[in-house]
Amino acid sequence: MTSTLIIGESMVELTHHTDDLLRKSFAGDTHSAAVYLKRLAGDSEDVSLLSAVGLDGLSNELIEALNKEGVSTHTVLQHPTRTIGLYMVHTDSQGERSFQYWRSQSAARATMALLEQQPALLADLAPTRVFFSGITLAIFDSTARAQLRELLEQLKMRGTQVIFDPNYRPALWQNKEETKAEYQWAFAVSDVVLPGLDDLNKLYGTSSMQSAVALVKTLCSGEAIIKNGEHGVTYLNADTQFSVEVAPVAKPVDTTAAGDSFNAALMAARSKGLPPQQAIEFAASVAAIVIQHKGAIIPRTELQHAINQ
Ligand code: ADP
Repeated sequence: MTSTLIIGESMVELTHHTDDLLRKSFAGDTHSAAVYLKRLAGDSEDVSLLSAVGLDGLSNELIEALNKEGVSTHTVLQHPTRTIGLYMVHTDSQGERSFQYWRSQSAARATMALLEQQPALLADLAPTRVFFSGITLAIFDSTARAQLRELLEQLKMRGTQVIFDPNYRPALWQNKEETKAEYQWAFAVSDVVLPGLDDLNKLYGTSSMQSAVALVKTLCSGEAIIKNGEHGVTYLNADTQFSVEVAPVAKPVDTTAAGDSFNAALMAARSKGLPPQQAIEFAASVAAIVIQHKGAIIPRTELQHAINQ
């Protein structure tokens, strides 16, 4: 059975239900990827999240929520004093969303230090593949980044496929040079990279898919799948390159988790043996459904439409 280890942070998400009533859920890029991957792959795949939470009630609720989704939490470590991060979504009168975060002291930032204290768990890690993102890197300090790099290199030697989505969030980094230095090794260690064109443009100053492709070729030698919203997806590896059109959704309701659900669906499709073109088409069809609903995690029944297609 395929097993996927997803490394990152789950947070509490607060959205306005009415003006003065907030709705609580759990989210985060890697959280969403884990939930969607498990929903899409079902029993054929073991999905676990490597992260850290606290010992408090809210942290336990998060663990329960993951378990309810079938995401394995044996690698969700518990920090003795910290708790989970939180963010709130504000929507202005024009419908534009902005996010406010309380995550600077989150337990997830201490994931690698907590893992080091559990040598048996560390030694047992042998997933078929591991997925991490630029946000995973951004929330770690330099020691934790070095530990993550070592873990990925060790897993790779044990035969694990490494998958990386740069998911660039400037606010989480000191400057672009710091980000580029970390992404350099992250791209190099990865067998598959799943960047969004916007992120590459923002960080590296590329201005077109063509220049982004040229850049990605210098950064990694494996497969790259470059997402570009409704404008389609470009696939490349050492031997070939092609574009896949996506059916545009004219008025997306909420694009949160578009890229995360795309990544999850792509992984699920590749596990089932679909070749790159069909896997990308499936991933785009899942993301198109996700962006037609509010929130990062959409109702299970809605996702079913994409699976049945
Ligand atoms: P990211 O969220 O990582 O920046 P994108 O914005 O490119 O990535 O979105 C990820 C995927 O979601 C795209 O590759 C595409 O398949 C789908 N998608 C996003 N926006 C639209 C849209 N307006 N219409 C159809 N599909 C979309």
